[in-house]
Amino acid sequence: MEHAPLIDPFARPIDYLRVSVTDRCDFRCTYCMAEHMQFLPKKELLTLEELDRLCSAFISLGVKKLRITGGEPLVRRDIMTFFRSIARHLDSGALRELTLTTNGSQLARFADELADLGMKRINVSLDTLVPEKFAEITRWGRLDQVLKGLEAAKRAGLKVKINTVALKGFNEDELFPLIDWCAAEGHDLTFIEVMPMGEMGEELRLDQYWPLSDVRKAMAERFTLTELDETTGGPARYVRLEETGQKIGFITPLTHNFCESCNRVRVTCTGELFMCLGQEDNADLRAPLRASADDAPLIEAIRAAIARKPKGHDFDYSRQKVKGQMSRHMSHTGG
Ligand code: SAM
Repeated sequence: MEHAPLIDPFARPIDYLRVSVTDRCDFRCTYCMAEHMQFLPKKELLTLEELDRLCSAFISLGVKKLRITGGEPLVRRDIMTFFRSIARHLDSGALRELTLTTNGSQLARFADELADLGMKRINVSLDTLVPEKFAEITRWGRLDQVLKGLEAAKRAGLKVKINTVALKGFNEDELFPLIDWCAAEGHDLTFIEVMPMGEMGEELRLDQYWPLSDVRKAMAERFTLTELDETTGGPARYVRLEETGQKIGFITPLTHNFCESCNRVRVTCTGELFMCLGQEDNADLRAPLRASADDAPLIEAIRAAIARKPKGHDFDYSRQKVKGQMSRHMSHTGG
């Protein structure tokens, strides 16, 4: 059924939804998770059918871009059933883009099917190209598995963006190797500033903080950087490296540059809708989903929540407070 599109109180159309389909992951990246995690009981998670209803409701309300994330989305059991089903909205033209943020570990298995069902681009998180360092930072991951996944993605025709968390003393020396490798492979590259979470202990945290302003400075020693105006509606800023023509993104999660054009909301794997990354306010969509097979209460709950979407982040928040919020977000919504 067609509904009036979602427009927030500041006249911003909401057409980008990011959905976490699981809190589980097959990696334990040190900056993200503790090694021994307590995951949510299954009944708390939205079922695949509930996720489909929820995403379909948003699409009927004008969402055009849907990003699936986690945890690691591709380790959720039967997740391809969800993807196959939700792809009907690509076929109908209601959804413009279906995409994925993944650690790449399962891509060798799923890349072909994802491409077949209409996915065009994916984000793959990769912080190092050195096998031992990869094992160290992900605790449970193996680089060769991810590289095989990336090859499969490329063969399947998926455009890849590599997301690299900038970590001082860890991948500082790989700045140029990563840029060169992405150029050779035809992947885009975005650096993410590390946020204080996971279980690294305070000292290591401080040691690993590598501000993206410093990453840029280091880049400028070898390349001529041209600032690009474009945004993808997301939090990234871009520069072009004139010597290679590569476009490099920078995401500084704690600096909020694009509130005025914010078109996005996110839903956790338990059905909490967050209207703004930097604020606590959220709406429970699981209750209306479970209360009725009819979507009317769900759509009403979504509209009521969007009517509360704030203008932007509260810049008076202490960094400490923002930190706490970010951790909650990241652990359940996948960044
Ligand atoms: N498992 C998927 C993946 O690896 O891309 C999706 C979820 S993961 C939480 C999403 C992104 O958040 C990854 O690129 C990851 O590196 C990033 N991330 C996790 N913890 C972070 C932190 N403390 N600071 C900055 N980025 C972080």
